[in-house]
Amino acid sequence: MIPYGRQTVDASDIAAVVRVLEGDWLTQGPHVEEFEQALAAYTGARHAVAFASGTAALHAAVLAAELGPGSRVVTSPLSFVASANCARYAGAEVRFADIDSDTLNLDPRRVPECDGIVAVHYAGLPTDLRNLAHRPRVVIEDAAHALGSETPDGRVGNCARSDMCVFSFHPVKTITTAEGGAVTASSPELADRLRRIRHHGIGSRPERGGWYYEIESLGFNYRMSDIHAALGTSQLRRAEEFVARRNHLAGRYREALAGLSLRLPPPAPTGWRHAYHLFAVRVPGRRRVFDALRAAGIGVQVHYIPIYRHRLYVGRASDPALFPGTEAAYEDLLSLPLYPRLTEREQDFVVETLASVL
Ligand SMILES: *Cc1c(COP(=O)(O)O)cnc(C)c1O
Repeated sequence: MIPYGRQTVDASDIAAVVRVLEGDWLTQGPHVEEFEQALAAYTGARHAVAFASGTAALHAAVLAAELGPGSRVVTSPLSFVASANCARYAGAEVRFADIDSDTLNLDPRRVPECDGIVAVHYAGLPTDLRNLAHRPRVVIEDAAHALGSETPDGRVGNCARSDMCVFSFHPVKTITTAEGGAVTASSPELADRLRRIRHHGIGSRPERGGWYYEIESLGFNYRMSDIHAALGTSQLRRAEEFVARRNHLAGRYREALAGLSLRLPPPAPTGWRHAYHLFAVRVPGRRRVFDALRAAGIGVQVHYIPIYRHRLYVGRASDPALFPGTEAAYEDLLSLPLYPRLTEREQDFVVETLASVL
């Protein structure tokens, strides 16, 4: 099966992990700090805080922003459920805003009154935060798809128009730590809070003795291990290469699919860079096309079942009729295989199979 996405791990990654295993420190230690510094440098962020997963990072970002009971958080329904669950973990109310059919991102001009938004950069194309109808108190970017993406404000993660930006390093994402995530932020207070949430809410008070620590707030064990971080630092060295390869393959798809009866994904506007986490086309009769490609050994996928359709969300302002753009997208979206090690031959096979099915 040719999957829709997969990691690119080489000998240098393996060596980096083995070196940590041979050392003294396995849990969060110097390699996590090194990874955070490398991630801050890559994204142009002031602070980067690594987490055990992207979902943990989202949860911590919502808590650090002090969104909770009584606050309303708006996100895109065309996303992985973690984009919405993070607000519910904190006791906040989740509302969805319909997507813009041209970008497949939440339409920033139609964000309703709320305390915070979680702006998902679908497939790696950033949400245009310059067009927000009004700026809520908190803007969090869910950039799980968008490590390496750029806008005229610079690289995603620099928080030019947000308070915090969240990444995931799940194997299908731009780089991987196996499981892992991170939050970038400009404010040192937010970075401090994020670190405390990650580590049981512990604050140190060295003046009271070397052993002394104080639990200042309810925290978690959301730490990344040094093993995972070493893999991340090694991977991050090749992030530019990965994004360039994804863009090259996306360009080949665009050329090869141009004549077929399908809709290509929105390209990055001039001056922007797409990270192409996904290459999601829109095909008529998606069910039949999906089944035929799967039967041919091509691991196409659908991103995503709209979050309001999940039973967990039914009843919370979740009538599909409220989201015509998202419903139309869910009807015909199909993610084709795209990852750095996809060969041109494999890609040609995907194109030929899709053409014959259509
Ligand atoms: C992958 C992903 C996440 C969650 O990341 P994990 O690291 O798997 O917890 C969150 N939001 C979006 C949009 C994602 O694609």
